[in-house]
Amino acid sequence: MRRRRNVKVLATLGPASASEEMIRALFEAGADAFRLNMSHGTHDDVRAMHARIRAVEADLGRPICILVDLQGPKLRVGKVAEGTVLEEGTSFRLELKHGPGDAAGAELPHKEIFQAIEAGASLLIDDGKIRLEVVEAGKDFADTKVMVGGPLSSNKGVNVPEVALPVPALSPKDRRDLDFAMTLDIDWIALSFVQRPDDVAEAKKIVAGRAAVMAKIEKPQALDYLDEIIEVADGLMVARGDLGVELPVEQVPGIQKAITRAARHAGKPVVVATQMLESMIEAPVPTRAEVSDVANAVFEGADAVMLSGESAAGAHPIEAVEMMDRVAQSVEADPQFRDAIDAGRTDPETTSADAITLAARQVAETLKAAAIVCYTASGSTGLRASRERPKVPILVLTPVVQTARRLALAWGVHCVETEDTTSFLDMVIRASRVAETEEFAKTGDRLVITAGVPFGTPGRTNILRIATVGTEARRPRA
Ligand code: PEP
Repeated sequence: MRRRRNVKVLATLGPASASEEMIRALFEAGADAFRLNMSHGTHDDVRAMHARIRAVEADLGRPICILVDLQGPKLRVGKVAEGTVLEEGTSFRLELKHGPGDAAGAELPHKEIFQAIEAGASLLIDDGKIRLEVVEAGKDFADTKVMVGGPLSSNKGVNVPEVALPVPALSPKDRRDLDFAMTLDIDWIALSFVQRPDDVAEAKKIVAGRAAVMAKIEKPQALDYLDEIIEVADGLMVARGDLGVELPVEQVPGIQKAITRAARHAGKPVVVATQMLESMIEAPVPTRAEVSDVANAVFEGADAVMLSGESAAGAHPIEAVEMMDRVAQSVEADPQFRDAIDAGRTDPETTSADAITLAARQVAETLKAAAIVCYTASGSTGLRASRERPKVPILVLTPVVQTARRLALAWGVHCVETEDTTSFLDMVIRASRVAETEEFAKTGDRLVITAGVPFGTPGRTNILRIATVGTEARRPRA
């Protein structure tokens, strides 16, 4: 099952899409990867969805990527009496311990906030709908003035945009969820509210290579360390929902471009997320602005575009995936697409894998080859090839199923699990056979193949071979 686009579609599963039939239909409609969100649902729900994805994967014979998204240290107010409305200009007291909240005050059970804030700091509640300014703060209280009022209900989220909070990126719930996720064979773990590179390093230590780790960029503090975070993380997500609360929303498009460019430069997969087709939660067709938003991410060269509520809880999950697929295909066929993609290309690093994959792109484009075929165990050569954003498709051949699944999120890559190659002849015959059966090439087409010699030694991409499909198998052995 060959996709007719390079960008990948990551669809969040939820009540509207958790059944095996829906997962299969979403995959067939174009979803390459599924996101299981630990902010919603129990471990049993996640385990069941995971099993259904793997069942669909086995049935269809294509690797499917599973990303588990940890909630992160989400800060929330405590219980609040029904019908509470905060009025602009009034005083509002937040306390570490407080009975049921009302228009005069509420509980904020996070001592780290009180430790970090000072007079003048802003506190945003309910995705920024309510804005408070701190007048005075102590170790267990903050007296604030309501700058923008509105209805306040129990457990609403709190953002503290200008302050680096002394909270670890992994809350106790995240640690439990992470331990649980590691009992399943998942491919990516996404970390919410990353502030520092150490947050990612800590998660990577626990994950210990059992999954790739994606840093969700949604805090302004993360932008100060973007390069260092990219260096430690395996991938990035532009988490525009919280980013647009923590920062003025008009800055989000520029930040999206900067994050996408930096991740592409490093050759790490980058996902653009949140509200991409938001109106499709209810409507069968998106707004023109939403279509333009998806298109923009594709023009920027993002590895994947994500659906959240649209596929998890909306009325039209399949149509939303189909819409992303159609927009992506249309943009990638647009004559301006190549210029836009090439503008984001950067120089290779001084490694043999970079030199070989750069050469593979140039040779493949010069020869109008049907595909670049990369033999890779760890997936790193596949990602280097993807970083080149070539005009021709990339076939990743790997003996490691986890690599095939993980790279299903990477731009332009079609992964196939196959035995490791053992000789030059086998390398060409196997590449040709896979390219034909996966509908990438026919007899007479050329392939540009990369691999490492001695064969079977990971991390050693050092050869590039041009092959013509159908000829090598017929050539008599010397
Ligand atoms: C976001 O904030 O954009 C995001 C993807 O995170 P979540 O959906 O977990 O809030």
